[in-house]
Amino acid sequence: MPDTSTGVVVIGGGSTGAGVLRDLALRGIDAILVEKGDLASGTTGRSHGLLHSGGRYCVNDEQAAIECVEEGRILRRIARSTVEDTGGYFVSVTEEDQAWEPRFAEGCRRTGITCERISVDEARRREPALSKHVRTVFWVPEDGHLDPFYLVVGNVESARRRGARVMTHTEVSGFLREGDRLTGVRIRDSKTREEGTIACQSVINATGAWAGLVARLFGVEVKVVPVKGTMVVLSRRLAHAAINRCHKPGDGDIVVPGLSVSILGTTSAKVPHPETLPIEWDEVRRMIEEGAMMLDGVTTARAMRAYAGVRPLYDLGAEAEGREMSRNFAVIDHQERDGIKGFTSIVGGKVTTFRLMAERVVDVAARYLGVSTPCTTAEVPLNDRDEPLDQLRHRPSVLGVPKPHDEEPPLQPLLCECELVRPQDVAPWFKDPAVHDLEDVRRRTRSGMGPCQAAICSYRLAARLVTDRGVDGPTATRAMADFLETRWRGVRHVFWGSQLRNMQVTTGLHMELYNVDRQLMLDPVAGTSPPPLAGEGRGGGLAQEPAEVAAQR
Ligand SMILES: Cc1cc2nc3c(=O)[nH]c(=O)nc-3n(C[C@H](O)[C@H](O)[C@H](O)COP(=O)(O)OP(=O)(O)OC[C@H]3O[C@@H](n4cnc5c(N)ncnc54)[C@H](O)[C@@H]3O)c2cc1C
Repeated sequence: MPDTSTGVVVIGGGSTGAGVLRDLALRGIDAILVEKGDLASGTTGRSHGLLHSGGRYCVNDEQAAIECVEEGRILRRIARSTVEDTGGYFVSVTEEDQAWEPRFAEGCRRTGITCERISVDEARRREPALSKHVRTVFWVPEDGHLDPFYLVVGNVESARRRGARVMTHTEVSGFLREGDRLTGVRIRDSKTREEGTIACQSVINATGAWAGLVARLFGVEVKVVPVKGTMVVLSRRLAHAAINRCHKPGDGDIVVPGLSVSILGTTSAKVPHPETLPIEWDEVRRMIEEGAMMLDGVTTARAMRAYAGVRPLYDLGAEAEGREMSRNFAVIDHQERDGIKGFTSIVGGKVTTFRLMAERVVDVAARYLGVSTPCTTAEVPLNDRDEPLDQLRHRPSVLGVPKPHDEEPPLQPLLCECELVRPQDVAPWFKDPAVHDLEDVRRRTRSGMGPCQAAICSYRLAARLVTDRGVDGPTATRAMADFLETRWRGVRHVFWGSQLRNMQVTTGLHMELYNVDRQLMLDPVAGTSPPPLAGEGRGGGLAQEPAEVAAQR
């Protein structure tokens, strides 16, 4: 791995790191983003996908609510194609919920959230699936769906166009220093373990739930509490808008329409390490029961997968825990706090507020570098050039029916029918050195994320590995099997009813029709191993503990 140098190293390729990279690039600061997995493979790609209106926080966390209001409006301007304007409802289903209502309405008023009380009849006319338990309804037009994958990729591509560099599957394993000044980072290829260095003037630690572990490499403390949340994906849209329970935030009280599916979540439990994310059957059941209080169809829809993410909650020193902890963020200037020049951490927050978080931390880094160019990320749109890669669009509305695009012949077969992915949507990514495997292609195109969970498109993607990337057949088959394996990890938590039948059909397809198992045995690829356990949807029963957690016991 060749040594290199830059102005600023950004560690972490989630929404925060991606936002930081773009902000630096727009201010003309040379930067490299280093991500140990793929872009959005951490918490960001496992979030609920709610563009928060602020209603969720307006009673207990006023500052967080105000930030959501402002950032939601900015995102609708600069990242239009990553947002679906679903609107949202806050519904009461019990007396306790109704007792919460005056506080909710007052919270909305205080924090500037647009909110209107409507009759249950009117609400049911707009959302026929509202359950019979619903007693009162507030309409909150500024809730929405935010695609976290497109958001991260959009930010990174915008930064790359301005000269920023990205190293995925590369881990920061240590720091270089001269006295009290940070002079660079040590890096390691996550797959080959090859090592190298990046010399720089400043480092921004944007590693979310890992921020404490990364800061510890430098011998300083950043208190981050990893709080796990599990979500269940239901195979169809049950409602047009986001449905929130009008009460103190709890488990299973939000259903977000995520493109063609509904995402029900979430739980909240402290975990010892950001990669210890077992999904318990009990959590899934509890969420489905709670969700059914708000929406009909939650129990009868096909639960097609479950996944978990870990909130990077910043420990402000309060004794508050889990949901009581602030959703605010903190910028830690380690020069000011720990006497280390050139090192800054950013922790906490939400996807919804990533841009503001980036602005605040880049202000500190820019000051250190002597750059006075102001932040322009609230004005410059993400897709500021008219090329196909930038068409980060809401597919169901724009691509509802395959249609001719530019010079293409009409009705060209789709590559992934569930998510309406066309061959030309994936082609550029096979040429990108930051894209290593089919999971990386999935995060950039949504291939394999729909109801069949890659049963069909995995074969087409594997074929593309051969034609576009020049790999041999056995390697492509192995890559396809790894891809199916990561999908399987999320599917296995919801094995009942129609999902069980669906998986039996899928298994028959792979084993009987395509003979994938036999093909893998006939063509073993030397040196390949199963994908690491930290992939999406990891869990089920006992999780393997990271060594440092085990050592603490
Ligand atoms: C269950 C759940 C639901 C949520 N729902 C919502 C929602 O609906 N709306 C919303 O706005 N927010 C939501 N959030 C909050 C939001 O997802 C997070 O606050 C946000 O994604 C954090 O982004 P990040 O970039 O700071 O962290 P991450 O996305 O985790 O990125 C950090 C990255 O750092 C990388 N990294 C770690 N160590 C190293 C290293 N040594 N070298 C290189 N890279 C490293 C990791 O691989 C990771 O990709 C939710 C969170 C959870 C857990």
